[in-house]
Amino acid sequence: MNNILITGGAGFIGSHLAEKILNEGDKVTIIDDLSTGKLNNINHLLNNSNLEFINDSILNIDTVDRLIKNTDIIFHLAAAVGVYLIVKDPVKVIETNILGTHSILQLASKYNKKVLIASTSEIYGKNSHVPFNEEDDRILGPTTKSRWSYSTSKAVDEFLGLAYHKQNGLAVTIFRLFNTVGPKQESRYGMVIPRLIDQSIQKKPLTVYGDGLQTRCFCDVDDVVNGILALSKSKKAIGEVFNIGSNIEISILDLAKKILQIVRKNNIETLTNNQIKFVPYDEAYEVGFEDMLRRVPDTTKIKSLIGWEPKISLDQTLNRIISEKLAN
Ligand code: UDP
Repeated sequence: MNNILITGGAGFIGSHLAEKILNEGDKVTIIDDLSTGKLNNINHLLNNSNLEFINDSILNIDTVDRLIKNTDIIFHLAAAVGVYLIVKDPVKVIETNILGTHSILQLASKYNKKVLIASTSEIYGKNSHVPFNEEDDRILGPTTKSRWSYSTSKAVDEFLGLAYHKQNGLAVTIFRLFNTVGPKQESRYGMVIPRLIDQSIQKKPLTVYGDGLQTRCFCDVDDVVNGILALSKSKKAIGEVFNIGSNIEISILDLAKKILQIVRKNNIETLTNNQIKFVPYDEAYEVGFEDMLRRVPDTTKIKSLIGWEPKISLDQTLNRIISEKLAN
């Protein structure tokens, strides 16, 4: 039985990861300060004697030192996430992401423990050459636009992780998550699928930013968690960076229409007029906000190394989220 530490384990992806690891029979310790994570996400796991939950910040070195000392593998998912937060509280985003990862890596190095670091497709910035390969250039906007601070903070995390591997021989694997979706993802941090689903259930107009022609590839959190776990078991993944995501694109406008269709199929009345409301980016985020038109991962690397590819379709995911929301 392994002892696994998940930082940010009460968050959307971390809580799904914790559940899967517990189901495999390993012990899980979660450290989460519940800033964006929620106890609700792990309530159903708390009576499992193999789970320990620590309500603390990863910036608390004494706690993290004790936890890492007693762990076998660290999944480092704690981070300040979501485009809203980046625009509203850039200090917190930069400090949490850079200082938090720094202390995790320092302590993992002290006790020689394997670390998997969650990174993001934001790394590629506004590079318009899709699909994004792990070796592609990062193209970012100026420092006066706070959106780019998130991408930069995660890039520093990646540099630091790779440097610890190269210089100290620490076992580090980095995975870049693209748009990940599934039950428990919250709408209040701006993520499009929970927002549009909540709006449609509440019979509010669906807010589509810009002209809605921007596309994204959405990957079910179950597929994502399987990918992360498989990477943690692969020796060849050490010292490497991997994209994890779906490569099936959908425009945000088509996504909104699909959600309306599914909600209607569930016999829920939706608004008949003005079902979709186009909101200019300046109003949705901040003046001068730059969105990515397309964001598609090249997943050749993870597929050829461990055979991972997504199995769950967007329709399946949307149906599952909508039926779970309607049941609550
Ligand atoms: N978006 C939208 N309406 C919303 C929230 C988001 O049209 O209510 C758009 C957003 O501008 C982006 C896409 O949906 O083009 C995905 O946004 P999200 O924040 O989920 O992910 P990311 O921008 O990080 O890919």
